[in-house]
Amino acid sequence: MKILVVGGGMGGTIVANNLARRLQRELRAGQAHIHMLSASERHMYQPGLLYVAIGRMLPDELYRDQRSLLDPAITFEVDPVEEFRFDRNQVRSKSGRTHEYDAIIISTGSRIAPEAIPGLAEHSEIFYTEEGALKLFKRLSGFSGGRIVVAVGVPHKCPMAPLEITFMLHDYLKTRGILDKTQLHYTYPIGRVHSLENVAKWATPEFDRLGITYETLFNMKEAKAGVLLSEEGSEAAFDLLIAIPPHRGMEVIERNKLGQGGWIPTNRHTLQMEGAHRNVYVLGDTTNLPISKAGSTAHFEAEVVAENIVAEWKIGGPVRQYDGKVFCFIEASDNRATYAMFNYNQPPQPRAPTQSVHWFKTAYNRLYWASARGLL
Ligand SMILES: Cc1cc2nc3c(=O)[nH]c(=O)nc-3n(C[C@H](O)[C@H](O)[C@H](O)COP(=O)(O)OP(=O)(O)OC[C@H]3O[C@@H](n4cnc5c(N)ncnc54)[C@H](O)[C@@H]3O)c2cc1C
Repeated sequence: MKILVVGGGMGGTIVANNLARRLQRELRAGQAHIHMLSASERHMYQPGLLYVAIGRMLPDELYRDQRSLLDPAITFEVDPVEEFRFDRNQVRSKSGRTHEYDAIIISTGSRIAPEAIPGLAEHSEIFYTEEGALKLFKRLSGFSGGRIVVAVGVPHKCPMAPLEITFMLHDYLKTRGILDKTQLHYTYPIGRVHSLENVAKWATPEFDRLGITYETLFNMKEAKAGVLLSEEGSEAAFDLLIAIPPHRGMEVIERNKLGQGGWIPTNRHTLQMEGAHRNVYVLGDTTNLPISKAGSTAHFEAEVVAENIVAEWKIGGPVRQYDGKVFCFIEASDNRATYAMFNYNQPPQPRAPTQSVHWFKTAYNRLYWASARGLL
């Protein structure tokens, strides 16, 4: 049994380690083989970018060597996939080699697409990359007051990051003693401040209490020096624009025409690619599922995929279905946080933020490495 994992991020790492644990005996006996092809030898803990942006973490803390996170029985190579040949159970990688499989898992993630909005890359700070998070931190360090606009485009990964950066900025400005010289303004594309209704219901009074203003039904159209224009015809003036740009799936997915926008059509329960062979599984950001693109989503999906691949092999059919489970911490203000847990049928019910949840999230920022290794 040859299992090929494409992508060594959150989803790929968790699924590969989970499979290695389930197939220990078969791996030792040479009856199973797990092969991971990725695009980087380093693994980034992306949620840490939020903390880099406000100077609470250093970039080095976000990385581990990918090999060190994987069960030693997994073969790991940095050799990105360039072509998927589902009819032949094969992929071709950048080195020109072909790799065969019995089951393939695609978890190549997503990328920001600021180019979709004219002027956005030039006029905004985007903390979704290491370089961007550091640049924002430097801008903030030199900021002495004015109007900060946090503008959100869709779709984007991490449903809570736009709210979190806004609340964390509030704390940052307060600590720096420049909160009274700053106006924080938030824009969101639909008719409330968050796509999840109960999260919007929780966040709106928090914004009101903290004096954070907001404009909903604001779809970014164009950014110019000092002003962001919306499709709806309104304008948001800024001294500092922080943007969460719309995202796309990875280029390799688009080039291979696996799904519009780089999002692969995926069965919401089995996580098999729609219209492809039964042995093609998809997880993490790269699915087209109508759920949050988050590390926890990739984690819960990975558990289902690993169990079903083993079950297909050993008992001839799947045993589990993915129920849409997602768990997200939400950093609020004043070193407090809450969380949202939900699935396809049950909406989140965020509670009042507490300091203990904030400290739990802070601890999870370190514990993540144990989770990626399959120890949590
Ligand atoms: C600022 C920020 C804050 C966030 N906060 C949270 C949070 O608090 N909680 C949460 O749950 N999630 C959070 N996320 C989201 C989370 O990081 C992603 O949803 C998660 O990493 C998705 O996992 P993935 O495996 O789909 O993709 P990734 O983790 O992005 O991994 C993709 C992998 O695919 C590889 N790859 C790319 N192209 C190829 C190719 N052609 N061939 C082979 N490999 C390839 C890449 O090298 C990478 O290893 C946050 C993200 C950001 C940016």
